[in-house]
Amino acid sequence: MKQHVQHLVIGAGAAGSAAAHALARRGQDVLLLEQFQIGHGRGSSFGPSRIFRLAYEEPDYAGLAQAALTSWRALESESGERLYWRTGGLDLGPAGTPSLEAVHASLSALDAAPERLSRRELARRYPQWQVPPDWEAVYSPEAGIVSPQITLRVLTDLARQHGARVLEGVATLEIEPGQQPAVRTSAGVVTCDHLIVAAGAWLPRLVPGLQPSLSVTLAASSFYRPDDLAAFQPERFPVFITHDDEFQAYGFPAFGVPGVKIGVDVVRPVTSGDDRTFEVPPQVSEASDTFMRRYLPGASAVMERQTCLITRAPGGDFILALHPDCPQITLASPCSGHGFKFTPLLGELLAAHALGERHPWHLPRFALPPQAMRQTAEQQPLPGGL
Ligand SMILES: Cc1cc2nc3c(=O)[nH]c(=O)nc-3n(C[C@H](O)[C@H](O)[C@H](O)COP(=O)(O)OP(=O)(O)OC[C@H]3O[C@@H](n4cnc5c(N)ncnc54)[C@H](O)[C@@H]3O)c2cc1C
Repeated sequence: MKQHVQHLVIGAGAAGSAAAHALARRGQDVLLLEQFQIGHGRGSSFGPSRIFRLAYEEPDYAGLAQAALTSWRALESESGERLYWRTGGLDLGPAGTPSLEAVHASLSALDAAPERLSRRELARRYPQWQVPPDWEAVYSPEAGIVSPQITLRVLTDLARQHGARVLEGVATLEIEPGQQPAVRTSAGVVTCDHLIVAAGAWLPRLVPGLQPSLSVTLAASSFYRPDDLAAFQPERFPVFITHDDEFQAYGFPAFGVPGVKIGVDVVRPVTSGDDRTFEVPPQVSEASDTFMRRYLPGASAVMERQTCLITRAPGGDFILALHPDCPQITLASPCSGHGFKFTPLLGELLAAHALGERHPWHLPRFALPPQAMRQTAEQQPLPGGL
């Protein structure tokens, strides 16, 4: 394979698939390369569910989430498939917890009609929960579920329909910046007018100048079989996040699997795309099981556990920026553990970037962090030598 394309996108996770779709939809010539298969389980975008929510303390992200909802609706219309399931959301914790108050304030500022639920009201509406006497909840009507499994299939199918080529099992080995960036792949060399590198946990390896700015950690999810599956269906059991010193947990109703899925943040081992294991740290399994027995005792039989990679930029922000030495390359790291909810909007943003346009949601905070790419010229050039 030796060829030239207008737009080359590396990585068919959420970011790369959305970018390829957005560019192809605009009539551009696009090649999307994925080292594994679409929907594989080694990166960040797989599995049945991710939380969609508007509640962010940062007004930038709250606004971005509102704009993303419009993009999800547009993608639903284009594909004819359902991509966002509104379940409502519960933020739970001891009354007066600052982060819980912040959720209420941020939803109120968006006119998103949050409701405060006393413990008693929580027990009446959602008897699945058994929380301590001093807890309360904030209910947010717009929260819900978006699905990596379904979204990636839809985005790559649509990208193909719009004329993009999507190649699976083709790894990018080296990138050489230039007027026409060149990429050496396991199937030959490709040159392009613009390159988007959306390689998730592998981005620090492909672009070593980003190593000081990105940390890759292993996160785990556990699935539990409820005694009464009907009580944990999406229409009866909202997505949730807990605000508690002991357990920072989040979870989902039985969606796409016959069980409740939760993640509990206790430890996140540092790793990399290549060196990661698939072992769930025992502290995480223990904390998840304790959480379920204590707060959701009707769903405490373990079904399965999974690991997933989180690539975090400083401050939990995203990186969506031109390469400082090569404006023909866009670097995309929109994960930080919360990026999936923005997927179709991020695609539009990345497409605008590649086309030299200014998108209204291209926030200044998506710029490269100050420590990034400093060593590019001297010690750590992008791998070259094509
Ligand atoms: C446990 C967990 C829970 C999360 N929960 C939420 C949530 O509730 N809500 C939310 O909004 N977000 C959530 N997120 C974040 C969200 O999943 C990520 O923001 C999103 O999946 C990141 O997608 P990505 O495209 O950046 O990375 P990836 O999905 O990892 O995609 C990168 C792709 O690039 C490919 N690639 C890498 N290197 C090469 C190469 N050299 N050649 C070719 N291909 C290559 C990889 O194989 C991969 O497919 C969660 C993440 C995790 C891990």
